Amino acid sequence: MSDLEVRLRDIVGPAHVLTDSDLKAPYETDWTRRFAGVARCVVRPAGTDEVAAVVRACAEEGVPITVQGGNTGLVGGGVPAGGDVLLSLSRLTALGDVDPIEAQVTVGAGVTLERLQQHARAHGLDFGVDLAARSAATVGGLVATNAGGIRVLRYGSMREQVAGIEAVLADGSVVRRLVGLAKDNTGYDLTQLLAGSEGTLAVLTTVRVRLVPLQPARAVALVAVDSVGSALELLAAARAGLPSLSAAEFFLADGMALVRAHGGLPAPFGEDHFGYVVLECSGRTDPSDDLLDVLGESPAVADATIASDVTGVARLWAYRETHTEAVSAAGVPVKLDVSVPLRELAGLVADLSSTVAAAAPAARLIIFGHLGEGNLHVNVLGAEERAEEVTEAVLRLVASRRGSISSEHGVGRAKAHWLPLSRSEPEVTAMRRIKHALDPAGTLNPGVLI
Ligand SMILES: Cc1cc2nc3c(=O)[nH]c(=O)nc-3n(C[C@H](O)[C@H](O)[C@H](O)COP(=O)(O)OP(=O)(O)OC[C@H]3O[C@@H](n4cnc5c(N)ncnc54)[C@H](O)[C@@H]3O)c2cc1C
Repeated sequence: MSDLEVRLRDIVGPAHVLTDSDLKAPYETDWTRRFAGVARCVVRPAGTDEVAAVVRACAEEGVPITVQGGNTGLVGGGVPAGGDVLLSLSRLTALGDVDPIEAQVTVGAGVTLERLQQHARAHGLDFGVDLAARSAATVGGLVATNAGGIRVLRYGSMREQVAGIEAVLADGSVVRRLVGLAKDNTGYDLTQLLAGSEGTLAVLTTVRVRLVPLQPARAVALVAVDSVGSALELLAAARAGLPSLSAAEFFLADGMALVRAHGGLPAPFGEDHFGYVVLECSGRTDPSDDLLDVLGESPAVADATIASDVTGVARLWAYRETHTEAVSAAGVPVKLDVSVPLRELAGLVADLSSTVAAAAPAARLIIFGHLGEGNLHVNVLGAEERAEEVTEAVLRLVASRRGSISSEHGVGRAKAHWLPLSRSEPEVTAMRRIKHALDPAGTLNPGVLI
């Protein structure tokens, strides 16, 4: 055992420094099974002081660290590059008291999204971010990737929910701003700088988050549409006519066929359609009538079904939410997560098939995503051997339509090479300078983002 491992055992206890291959394995491969690497060891500290001591020890020994929360990230940012220490935040699970006056709560970085939601709901409030990986994704990972999900349309992305952070910098020092002031203009906003930094600038240990009103009554519509244009027309009508709108999601016929086969789901309509939109409204009272009014008046609706009971809502959401799982069950996809201005969406969808076919003729394309933000998850199955070509072709197409090469999953290791497609040279240089200022030795998440 090396000096570093001995030191790490002294800090976190021998049971929480994993060196055995079998024990390390779950931390070494990502959720998609596309990214993997061998860690020197996995370290699981129990609190901020232990995290700081681990980071300091690694910095002194010149050993790089890969930071990991729930390991549900989709861009290879949380799995080891090889030979690094894998720092898992999964034991930082403290749950503070919900403050109903501020509508805020302070939680450990390792608390899962689902646990945070349950905690807030038990106090008559809710958390503004939701996504299908809720049972495993951690608050630290959500902040680090500035995760989006299905409620961005109503509450914004993760960074909008963050009122303060505590984080360990690359030299082991701790920055802490957890009061959660609604107004605080005292210079550079480190909290917002760390949101979306993907573990490259600091290790988040505690987060103070804003909470939103609990909206217990929900109505969900699954709407068939015959074009992207119709989907956008419906979105415009929903935005104008439904103050209670909380989600607007989108998928195509191929995705419908895949999730139906994967989950044994029944056909929702008598015939197949080009695409499908899921609209959700939520409030303190049942918003079904408002939703029905908007659907009834919109010529964009080819067919629709609506539910407002718990079982029916879950049944309709399953057509959209099981996409990621169904794609993963079908193979190891090339996963791209892009966004374009909404007026470019129809053109992008139209061009994607031919672009992917040119790069990987035998591939199967599944497109779904968050309609409100022009955010498409482009999943290409059967293209493992042509991953670079497919990625290059799709990301260039997106850039040509003024889009982003990473809408919500982050850049990670998967997209670092293509960052200049979305960020100008001066922007990337400024990012490198910030990285160098906070982590001059490049200890934290080397190879991720920049
Ligand atoms: C089924 C499924 C559905 C998903 N849906 C969505 C979606 O709708 N929207 C969306 O945005 N994402 C989605 N994701 C992606 C993923 O859930 C998010 O990126 C999530 O934020 C990752 O959290 P995590 O705790 O698993 O982080 P990890 O995967 O462990 O890490 C992700 C990144 O954050 C860094 N990191 C993790 N914890 C910390 C910390 N404490 N301090 C500093 N850096 C840290 C890691 O180094 C890595 O770069 C989905 C994933 C799956 C599997």
